[in-house]
Amino acid sequence: MTKPKPKPKPGMNSKLNCPSCGTRFFSDETDAMPFCCQRCRLIDLGRWLDEEIGMPFEGEPGDVPVEHRNGDPEARADD
Ligand SMILES: [Zn+2]
Repeated sequence: MTKPKPKPKPGMNSKLNCPSCGTRFFSDETDAMPFCCQRCRLIDLGRWLDEEIGMPFEGEPGDVPVEHRNGDPEARADD
């Protein structure tokens, strides 16, 4: 007689990739979903805050301001 293997319930014990460090981990091994650990959760949170506070949007480097793109004959010199 062989015991039937217990099947994992759907949504339980699924393997995930940590968005912060890329480590493969099981969803039931962490209390910091969707990250592998609290540390990675904080790292990712800090990254977001860093971008919001440290990088005010001033356009891409070398980007032409919108008002110079349209209606300015100088900007259409290659036409
Ligand atoms: Zn991680």
